[in-house]
Amino acid sequence: MLSNTTDPIVAVATAAGRGAVGIVRVSGARLAPLIAAVCAKPLRPREATYLPFRDAAGEPVDHGLAIHFPAPHSFTGEDVLELQAHGGAVVLQLLLARCLEAAAEVDGATGRARLPGLRVAQPGEFSQRAFLNGKIDLAQAEAIADLIDASTEAAARSAGRSLSGAFSREIHVLRDALVHLRMLVEATLDFPEEDIDFLQKADAAGQLAALQAQLAAVRRRAQQGALLREGIKVVIAGQPNAGKSSLLNALAGAELAIVSAVPGTTRDVVAQTIQIHGVPVHVADTAGLRESHDEVEQIGIARAWNQIESADAVLFLHDLTRADDAAYASGDGDILASLQCKLPNGVPVLDVWNKHDAVSAAAQRDGLVLSAKTGFGIEALRSRLLDIAGWQAVPEGVYLARARHVQALRQVADHVDRAAGQLAARLPALDLLAEELRLAQNALNEITGEFGADELLGVIFSRFCIGK
Ligand code: GDP
Repeated sequence: MLSNTTDPIVAVATAAGRGAVGIVRVSGARLAPLIAAVCAKPLRPREATYLPFRDAAGEPVDHGLAIHFPAPHSFTGEDVLELQAHGGAVVLQLLLARCLEAAAEVDGATGRARLPGLRVAQPGEFSQRAFLNGKIDLAQAEAIADLIDASTEAAARSAGRSLSGAFSREIHVLRDALVHLRMLVEATLDFPEEDIDFLQKADAAGQLAALQAQLAAVRRRAQQGALLREGIKVVIAGQPNAGKSSLLNALAGAELAIVSAVPGTTRDVVAQTIQIHGVPVHVADTAGLRESHDEVEQIGIARAWNQIESADAVLFLHDLTRADDAAYASGDGDILASLQCKLPNGVPVLDVWNKHDAVSAAAQRDGLVLSAKTGFGIEALRSRLLDIAGWQAVPEGVYLARARHVQALRQVADHVDRAAGQLAARLPALDLLAEELRLAQNALNEITGEFGADELLGVIFSRFCIGK
């Protein structure tokens, strides 16, 4: 549900914890009376003023910078006040409380509360205001959250590209082409004397084919963008000392992950995130999946299996130096059996033979042969993992997209394909053709939020962090 979108709102906009600077942000229709109470003097638009933030008795709560962004030239499109104070949790909470208190105080000049109805913002509410006030579209608003959450440099860069509107612009180009086609078809419907010849003369089929090609290109880039955002899940299996940790380090190489925890799993115990050419690869280690009587560990293991159930691939690591040892081979057999019973169908299991450097004449093996120690074969494995992920392009030109966008684009393509089918028919049903084009446009508009149900908006913005 969307909350009341006209209440003035306030929140600590910086991350929880200690920092040199912390920001309290207020957005509302008219903030001058609040500014007078907290800053004790008027602020020049968009200029930082160093001053004491005052409590009700006029005593300083802290000293810092105050900036007023008068509407509509602000992030939210409303009047915005930013108070940059020292970044301690208590200081910022005091300042937040002071804003709420000052808002409720009666202003001597008007006899009314300074900022009636000021309340603490819900997660994402500032971005939601920006969207509702036409400052950004929905795809851009989502890109803000994605930029903040980005776990790799490539993801951050492509989120930045989406935020600057690159993705939205492509959607608008597609929409304009669709609108043009719809006009042609609707004209034919409205004026029955203009029959199918009219569409032929206007090269509707050619326009539709061009639209299909454009759409396919946008879908490819959006799919790559979704991959950059979500990454792939890989399970690494193998007996102790096969070289699982060494392989993980070798795969990570210079591109050490910025985050190491997969959301919802226990950090460090069984899962780690590395990146390959900017694609986050979440690696779950089956070493953590042993039988355990420790309750906490059992919870971790259960979570890891949840991860594995959604795995995109399994790396099954074998030790070449022990390849001919019967006991070792039987150990590998046990691991394979347990993977086969727990892994969903269709998840590829990649056999990887490690320690190539330690054997003199390697026998022919099924799968990849490599050495985590020397790096031999590692690049081939990285490419192989990217292939499995469906990664094709270099991240240049990719914009971060979400599963929601990819799904909407698929719907657009389905409708456009059906429209093309109608047009190609010997006797096209023009009303069906018009309807398919209309549905295609609706699906497209869902991406930028120009058409969308309230629940959809609620779901999207509630996943933001507070203060954004
Ligand atoms: P894990 O128990 O499967 O995580 O295995 P480790 O990564 O801890 O490696 C076990 C041992 O094998 C260590 O002594 C590593 O130095 C060694 N090792 C790992 N990879 C290689 C390799 O490619 N070549 C050689 N010669 N030794 C390796």
